[in-house]
Amino acid sequence: MTSGVDSGGQTDSLRILRGQKALVTGANSGIGKATAIRLGQAGADVVVNYVFGREDAEAVVKEIEGFGVRAYAHEADVSQEDQVVGMFAHMVEQFGTIDILVANAGLQRDAASVEMTLDQWRKVLDVNLTGQFLCAREAAKEFLRRGVVPEVSRAAGKIVCMSSVHQIIPWAGHVNYAASKGGVLMMMQTLAQELGPQGIRVNAVAPGAIRTPINRSAWETAEAEAELLKLIPYRRVGDPKDIADAVTVLASDLMDYVVGTTLYVDGGMTLFPGFATGG
Ligand code: NAD
Repeated sequence: MTSGVDSGGQTDSLRILRGQKALVTGANSGIGKATAIRLGQAGADVVVNYVFGREDAEAVVKEIEGFGVRAYAHEADVSQEDQVVGMFAHMVEQFGTIDILVANAGLQRDAASVEMTLDQWRKVLDVNLTGQFLCAREAAKEFLRRGVVPEVSRAAGKIVCMSSVHQIIPWAGHVNYAASKGGVLMMMQTLAQELGPQGIRVNAVAPGAIRTPINRSAWETAEAEAELLKLIPYRRVGDPKDIADAVTVLASDLMDYVVGTTLYVDGGMTLFPGFATGG
């Protein structure tokens, strides 16, 4: 039986990633954590990458194991080539292969452009863009080595890049972050074009405003949240689960013909909400 919807009971039919092996970077917090758990719930074995906060990562592992699948935590800084190479080698040893990469790890180091240090610029580009590239490269090598296994998935492998609405919305005071996510868009599309012929699907999810530690100041007071809601036509701040659900379906065979696309999960933030009453 191929992965995806089967003829079993309702629970089985929801395990759309049954038998697949996934790695989620930055999976001990926020969106990565929710995604790792959701992939496990969908039937995948999951590697929970983290760079600091082992206890949080182990708690995510426990929650995933509760779905009857395998999981373990792996410490690695995604911006360090040797650590990324080691993480994928270890995964192949432990799980035999990889079917799904969710390149999620990311951070912000905000400053006005004229005050931004080279360290702030480099740190964000190193983690948000170079880190995604290194992980995508290592995942793609294993996808190419193994090829398609039809009873697991129609694709030879799936990569989901965690981008942001700021891959297309300029963001004053965050030039490093916006540049990194703009880079993710073109990296994702280029990888999708290059690897598509080998059966590898590369796509991105672009969250809008999601309630996580990365943007706490934007939603933690009622005033801040009210300001934020003006930017969201759907008038609610997103939850990590909104993104986790989107990633899970995008990585599954339900979306097998989706290649090189960004799925915006943003409550309409990219709809130029300022034009709702003007223009
Ligand atoms: P978060 O701070 O809760 O999670 C980020 C995770 O990345 C953490 O686990 C952190 O430890 C990890 N990380 C940071 N540097 C790392 C490194 N060098 N190696 C490995 N892991 C590292 O924030 P989040 O909101 O869950 O962010 C997850 C992703 O979603 C990021 O790529 C972020 O840019 C993107 N995103 C978030 C929002 C939002 O509103 N929260 C919106 C758009 C995009």
